[in-house]
Amino acid sequence: MYELEVPISKNNDAIVKDYNKCIKCGYCKKVCVDEIISSKLLEERPDAEPLCINCGQCSNICPTEAIHEKFDYLKVKKILKDKNNKKVIFSVAPAVRVALGEDLGLEVGINLEKKIPSLLKSLGADYVFDITFGADLTIMEEAMEFVTRLKNNTRIPQFTSCCPAWVKYLEIFYPSLLNNLSTTKSPIAIQSSIIKTYFAQKIDTNPQDIINVVVAPCTAKKSEINRNELNVTTKDTDYILTTRELALLIKEENINVYDIGDSNFDSPLKTGSGAGVIFGSSGGVCEAALRTAYYFLTNKNLKKEELEFTSLRGIKGIKEANVDINGRKIKVAVCNGIRNARILIDKLLKEEVHYDFVEVMNCTGGCIAGGGQPKSTMLYMAETKEARSNALYDEDKKMNLRLCHENPEIKFIYEEFLDKPNSELAKKLLHTTYEDKSYLLRGDKHE
Ligand code: SF4
Repeated sequence: MYELEVPISKNNDAIVKDYNKCIKCGYCKKVCVDEIISSKLLEERPDAEPLCINCGQCSNICPTEAIHEKFDYLKVKKILKDKNNKKVIFSVAPAVRVALGEDLGLEVGINLEKKIPSLLKSLGADYVFDITFGADLTIMEEAMEFVTRLKNNTRIPQFTSCCPAWVKYLEIFYPSLLNNLSTTKSPIAIQSSIIKTYFAQKIDTNPQDIINVVVAPCTAKKSEINRNELNVTTKDTDYILTTRELALLIKEENINVYDIGDSNFDSPLKTGSGAGVIFGSSGGVCEAALRTAYYFLTNKNLKKEELEFTSLRGIKGIKEANVDINGRKIKVAVCNGIRNARILIDKLLKEEVHYDFVEVMNCTGGCIAGGGQPKSTMLYMAETKEARSNALYDEDKKMNLRLCHENPEIKFIYEEFLDKPNSELAKKLLHTTYEDKSYLLRGDKHE
């Protein structure tokens, strides 16, 4: 039955499939088998609940829309028309700004950072924040966690935890390594916890009167927000819209991007560093973490010419860097796509390699190539990914603020609210837990 197509469960909380539209072209199966879950696992258990980490790469490649993200934009559209005294807040991930234009008829690689706040305000948003702020806060927590583990020589290598597809992959296939996963929440989850606590207090509003919407390049985030352990309020993130859904919303409301003026994101979750911006590209999280871990370990910033870890950028499957910090050699690796994580983990388990810090992103190229991004054809895929990635690195290069720990809004939120990285409150609001999900390998229902 599944010879040429990827099965999608009715219980999948990120992706849906309309079997009537499926032309059995096999593209979804190929991407899932080659890049994500091994073919054996799909074929050996045809009657079991399909295994899925919600990354949506199958939906991105599907030429007929038979597979697509679970649409939430119509619900958000309705809320924006009838807010019922609620405040509607949008936060937008960095990878969205360099891809949204493609679905609005603009050139590949155009950065819409300055248009997005006005676009969302014209749709009815009350506040529009930048997830780059959440990315900076993630690095503060994750880099401090890394420094502590290094000093105590425990739970090394530290794996990044910002990609929910990767987190679920590790929970299913390698639960014995969950201790190595950073406990820091993803930038989106961090931003949402801050909005429903700190910002709600600032605007003197009950968190239940806030509708918190995040625009992400990712379908897996639709599943991530259902993880109870991420919530510090009843529901920290109310809706995730993919970049494609935002484009649909804009088009259905007949908003022309050419008629929209420039504006900035709103304070106090407005400012992000260049390090936060490059989170959207494979290698970006590791690079951002190294810039701040260096500061935490030495009390000095890397020199301007040392900020770019170019060996961690680009399309290679596994990228590495060695960094000397105070005489200690730190070895880091970046897995560009889950297939490469599998290769690296197998070597780690056989003790053939050693790393101190490992970044894993499910999508090849990083979030700029997420399952919820505008579709590209096979022919232009590599070119499109490169253009999006270059747009993020160019933005970082042009910025004066290129270090998360130098972000004035980040310094302020620690001074005013969180105290210091990994403080008791920071651990309560910005960190999470994981679960052994190897039971899914038996074909049990998804949570
Ligand atoms: Fe989502 Fe980014 Fe992970 Fe892809 S790499 S699944 S877009 S978080």
